Amino acid sequence: MHTTGRATNGNGHGHGNGNAAAAAHRFQKLKAEIHRQVVESLDISKLVKLNPERVRREVRAVAAQVTRNNHESLDTVSHERMIDEIMNEAFGLGPIEHLMNDPTVSDILVNGPRQVFVERHGRLEETDIVFADDAHLIQIIQRITARVGRRVDEATPLVDARLPDGSRLNAIIPPLSLEGPILSIRRFGVRLACERQEHLDIRQDMATGLVIENGRAVAVETMLGGKIDSRNVIITAGTFLNGVIHIGLKSYEAGRAGEFAAKGLTESLFAHGIETDRLKTGTPPRLNGRTIDYSKTEMQPGDEPPPPFSFWHDKLAVEQMPCYLTYTNEATHAALRSGLDRSPMYTGRIKGVGPRYCPSIEDKITRFADKPRHQIFLEPEGRNTTEVYINGFSTSLPEEVQTAAIRTIPGLEQVQITRMGYAVEYDFFQPTQLYPWLESKNINHLFFAGQVNGTTGYEEAAVQGFMAGVNAALKSRGEAPFILSRSEAYIGVLIDDLVTKGTIEPYRMFTSRAEYRLLLRQDNADLRLSKYGQQLGLLSEAQYRSVERKQKAVTETIAALSEIQVEPAEINDRLRERGTTPIQQKESLLRLLRRAEISLPDLRGFGRLELWESWQDTFWQKVAEQAEIEVKYAGFIDRQRETIARFENLEDKRLPHNLDYSKLIALSSEAREKLNRIKPTSFGQASRISGISPADITALLVYAKKGFKHVSRETPAEIEMMEE
Ligand SMILES: Cc1cc2nc3c(=O)[nH]c(=O)nc-3n(C[C@H](O)[C@H](O)[C@H](O)COP(=O)(O)OP(=O)(O)OC[C@H]3O[C@@H](n4cnc5c(N)ncnc54)[C@H](O)[C@@H]3O)c2cc1C
Repeated sequence: MHTTGRATNGNGHGHGNGNAAAAAHRFQKLKAEIHRQVVESLDISKLVKLNPERVRREVRAVAAQVTRNNHESLDTVSHERMIDEIMNEAFGLGPIEHLMNDPTVSDILVNGPRQVFVERHGRLEETDIVFADDAHLIQIIQRITARVGRRVDEATPLVDARLPDGSRLNAIIPPLSLEGPILSIRRFGVRLACERQEHLDIRQDMATGLVIENGRAVAVETMLGGKIDSRNVIITAGTFLNGVIHIGLKSYEAGRAGEFAAKGLTESLFAHGIETDRLKTGTPPRLNGRTIDYSKTEMQPGDEPPPPFSFWHDKLAVEQMPCYLTYTNEATHAALRSGLDRSPMYTGRIKGVGPRYCPSIEDKITRFADKPRHQIFLEPEGRNTTEVYINGFSTSLPEEVQTAAIRTIPGLEQVQITRMGYAVEYDFFQPTQLYPWLESKNINHLFFAGQVNGTTGYEEAAVQGFMAGVNAALKSRGEAPFILSRSEAYIGVLIDDLVTKGTIEPYRMFTSRAEYRLLLRQDNADLRLSKYGQQLGLLSEAQYRSVERKQKAVTETIAALSEIQVEPAEINDRLRERGTTPIQQKESLLRLLRRAEISLPDLRGFGRLELWESWQDTFWQKVAEQAEIEVKYAGFIDRQRETIARFENLEDKRLPHNLDYSKLIALSSEAREKLNRIKPTSFGQASRISGISPADITALLVYAKKGFKHVSRETPAEIEMMEE
């Protein structure tokens, strides 16, 4: 592609928006026509029973025909996008499809084709979703009810049904409803979702022991005398195992405030050779928000617009609540110091090590004694409560010290504490006792995840629970374990750190722990990991296709940027405006985009590019973001990819699980002892164990070449000879 010699947009005319609108209009018109013909020419009731790929092929054939008949041409990306949209319209739930996949939506209320409301966190809000007309809405209602074997039509205009995910559906259509069709879908929370999950049985009891037979976990014993047989057991006991809560010099057994400690399980695991130790974590007090004087604090609004956590949501419609910033001062620190003689940490009552990166306030004033103040964020606990979380003030000092210290903080002079801060000490299991798929090396079919592995934090726990769950399922099916490497995901870094190095304090996942963070970006997580989601059966075909579509669009956009050449005369004014050197001869958009002063919007309109035409479309905005990052940081990214290729070379070289390293006498004695304890699964993992030298790795590689045979006879000198 190249430009026409002057600043142009898609078709060489100067009206970017008009052109984009015309393209969007053509696209919608064509889509409507294809949709109509799909409905007319294909028997939808039969198609919905077919495999989605087959249906897609049929729709694609109709789409190709209609496009030809209309003398239109579409690039592959737009063509596939159109097919996705038609598939949603024809077989999905049309405009409300994404609401059904949005876990924050608890209710969907459709009051005729023009009014769609959703309830999120107890608040009703109107959306900008519309249906084409009454007939379109009735068609979607019929499609939903057909899925649960119910019908709705003029003869039976009212339906009340339970959807497969447990949601309750109510629909009324004319003639019974006078003002157009009405639909309501009441969705239920996580608990009901779990209760309705097929193949999932739920039982509430305390696990007090494991039954181990022939080195394999076969059942869980419970406090009430029950025995639950199991193919795999995953332990996710959090801070509950022999948990003890401390507030000042008071302490009592509990897993969290108000919840029992779990007894017996640690002892049972210990009896089967699992090593255990103690850690501690803590939490700040909670405040009555109605007693806070916010005028003395600084409001801290969230990001605008709030970025959704998931790639499947384009935007968050939930109204955001701000936090408020205030600071401790000398008076606060003096009040805190006055209580240190009754601090369970400083008096040695707590033996477990606490998280270095989330220190308690008493830790902060001691470790950073020169700091005159510390930040305190006042965060609402939720929409349906007036309670406030005082972030930055985790403490286990006595109640009266907590109260006195907090009331010295601006805005909190009159505050009431609803719940006291506390520290909790608990048992954990050194994670070096686990394989990278989180299964115990000692006890087969036993997995560990979360806080019991020495981490702390919601995300750290959640990802381990996910990985242990996936691996337990794969083990049940007799399939190979699922391991993410350090170069693919933070999950890989977290688990590799834990199982290779272990931890002596609660471990938190920081980006700084990853060596490849230029590639492990939040913006490309979908491109990095969706293939695994699809392989594990966790992503639908449609979701996976949309990621492939994005990848393809990014690649094509970058290729187009490199092909489009601009003349100095057409772009130099723009370059000067942006404070960057004008060009002397023709230059590609890609090279211009590499300049720090230039971003993609600055190049908009030069050359014919799908991206320019669909600029307002959220899909294309994501493509633009990705393309710009890839182009701007190409040099660094390429270098990191090369490093990763070298790293993966060592990761791909596997080490047998049952290798007895004590026989590999060419290794140092420290290496033999540590390798025997950790039992790394790859040379890469072995190389990251502290105390394993490059010389040990070289010797191991030589042993590997010989299939680890005859190892007992070789001396270090012989190994050297073999290397030569
Ligand atoms: C007071 C406190 C405040 C925290 N604040 C934050 C924070 O602000 N941000 C953050 O990221 N992290 C925070 N954390 C850490 C975070 O809550 C934990 O790291 C995370 O919840 C651990 O998840 P988990 O699934 O491993 O265990 P948990 O969430 O603790 O869940 C363990 C579950 O196992 C059950 N259980 C335990 N033993 C048994 C048994 N023997 N039989 C049957 N059931 C059992 C328990 O009832 C509990 O439901 C906090 C932790 C605590 C204790």
